[in-house]
Amino acid sequence: YHTMAKSRFEYVRQFETNEVLLPETYIVVRIDGKKFHEFSRTYEFQKPNDLRALKLMNASAKNVVMKYQHEVVCAFGESDEYSFILRKDTVLFKRRQNKLSSLFVSLFTANYVALWSKFFPDVALDYKNLPFFDSRCVCYPSLTTIKDYLSWRYVDTHINNLYNTVFWQLIVKCGLTPQESEQKLCGTLSSDKQEILFTKCGINYNNEPEIFKKGSLINKKGEILHIDVIKNIDALFEGF
Ligand code: ATP
Ligand code: ATP
Ligand code: MG
Ligand code: MG
Ligand code: MG
Ligand code: MG
Ligand code: MG
Repeated sequence: YHTMAKSRFEYVRQFETNEVLLPETYIVVRIDGKKFHEFSRTYEFQKPNDLRALKLMNASAKNVVMKYQHEVVCAFGESDEYSFILRKDTVLFKRRQNKLSSLFVSLFTANYVALWSKFFPDVALDYKNLPFFDSRCVCYPSLTTIKDYLSWRYVDTHINNLYNTVFWQLIVKCGLTPQESEQKLCGTLSSDKQEILFTKCGINYNNEPEIFKKGSLINKKGEILHIDVIKNIDALFEGF
């Protein structure tokens, strides 16, 4: 047996604080890429949506979900972010905020780096421009608030994707400058944007790929789905 190292320096442990997250609440661990606007430029992501990058996010998140399969209800991802939703009775890492947030984000990042070459076979990851992510834990006290959380991210996906799709198409198809494109979209409603996209660029927004419009949902089995989160929310939380 190994004896516990005890020294006169041990007292410094008392300076450590530990936030234990409120029991019986859903925990969301949300990670987000640091300066991915820049990162996506460095690695020449296709605009507005690089499919390789989205698939890499999904594959990395799937490995996180599979590792903590019994604790995760589902995960939702879009752009450079992913939200992992933990069951409300989880006692993973004794619900310690520091542990949850740091272990989820480092496991995700390790996967993102390890899987990079599978999704970007002809683009070398440069050690001077490595991907890194921030992370936070948020507790949601009820099924209503956790469903609203997912709806919030889902609606955000739709709003951003519609805007970005029209913004880039006006540049690519109509030859507008980024400034002109921004001006044209200023103050427009969703319906106006769809109309501009159809009449000026010949694109029906409904025919855009589901992964762009709806984001990605990973269920506890590790299946990656591109579905209407809001419509499927009750089924997702059945039993949780
Ligand atoms: P921060 O460090 O504050 O998060 P950020 O530059 O990462 O800054 P976000 O609001 O997180 O800002 O936005 C992420 C950005 O990354 C998007 O606006 C987009 O430019 C880029 N991006 C992320 N995923 C993709 C993708 N699949 N294809 C193309 N661009 C992407
Ligand atoms: P926890 O997840 O709680 O941190 P742990 O197994 O990582 O558990 P630590 O107290 O962090 O426990 O100890 C790290 C262990 O990793 C060491 O006890 C040792 O067995 C091993 N280890 C770390 N670095 C080395 C190294 N350079 N060479 C050999 N073994 C190492
Ligand atoms: Mg951010
Ligand atoms: Mg970001
Ligand atoms: Mg983001
Ligand atoms: Mg340790
Ligand atoms: Mg350790």
